[in-house]
Amino acid sequence: MDAARRHGATLLGQTRAGALTKLADGWRVETNRGPIEAREVVIATNGYTGGLTPDLKRRLIPVASHIIATEVLDPELAASLIPKKRTLADSRRVLCYYRMSPDGSWVIFGGRARFTQVTPEVSAPLMRAMMLERWPQLKGVRVTRAWTGNVAFAFDHLPHMGQTEKGLHYALGCNGSGVAILSYLGADIGKKILGNANKVPSFDGWDFPTRPFYSGNPWFLPAIGSWYRFRDWLDRRLV
Ligand SMILES: Cc1cc2nc3c(=O)[nH]c(=O)nc-3n(C[C@H](O)[C@H](O)[C@H](O)COP(=O)(O)OP(=O)(O)OC[C@H]3O[C@@H](n4cnc5c(N)ncnc54)[C@H](O)[C@@H]3O)c2cc1C
Repeated sequence: MDAARRHGATLLGQTRAGALTKLADGWRVETNRGPIEAREVVIATNGYTGGLTPDLKRRLIPVASHIIATEVLDPELAASLIPKKRTLADSRRVLCYYRMSPDGSWVIFGGRARFTQVTPEVSAPLMRAMMLERWPQLKGVRVTRAWTGNVAFAFDHLPHMGQTEKGLHYALGCNGSGVAILSYLGADIGKKILGNANKVPSFDGWDFPTRPFYSGNPWFLPAIGSWYRFRDWLDRRLV
């Protein structure tokens, strides 16, 4: 964002794009703060891809991720949880990921509490139970913050960048690990638009699959989530 500002870009937060119209030399984007005309448009809506781009929406499965954070812990207890201060993720299909705060004094614990959209009021107690499964010694510790948001899975579990038939650019499908990969694809799209890419972007234009009759409403997620949880449970019993 700082780089964009330095180069004179106007950044408009809290601005919802409502409709896109193709013009002879670009696009007209209707927003809640008035229309914008642009030579190029990049769709980077990931787990929030909606009716503005139905053809992209039907290629993505939005999945909620949930995180809780604890109060500041007793220093001895905090130091005993992850002695080498690593960030941890388990190897289950429905995984949890967790770490200490940067100063090592409280826990940040994330995972999939539910496979439907629920508020932090619902997800926090479920995440807390998962945290206590791993660290029963945190039983008396208060959870002080909880938040949630969507990530987006592609049917082939790969990230995707490219251009639609009408010429909209997109970078979508983080599959749960978007901080690195979507930042990378964002930079690649920028270079592609400027025409100064000195390499062919690695993910550009790959087939972006969907499934028959799927329009972007992941009604099947609770069933798949339950199946994955069952497989996790079974694998543990069989080890
Ligand atoms: C709880 C949680 C934990 C996560 N943990 C990790 C992790 O450990 N490692 C990791 O790599 N990734 C993680 N992720 C995923 C990572 O945060 C995302 O992959 C990343 O934020 C995707 O960035 P993005 O900019 O592509 O999309 P987003 O950050 O999802 O941004 C999409 C934006 O599009 C906007 N939008 C949608 N429709 C419109 C419209 N019509 N007009 C205007 N704007 C619109 C939305 O408001 C949103 O701001 C996590 C995500 C969550 C929610």
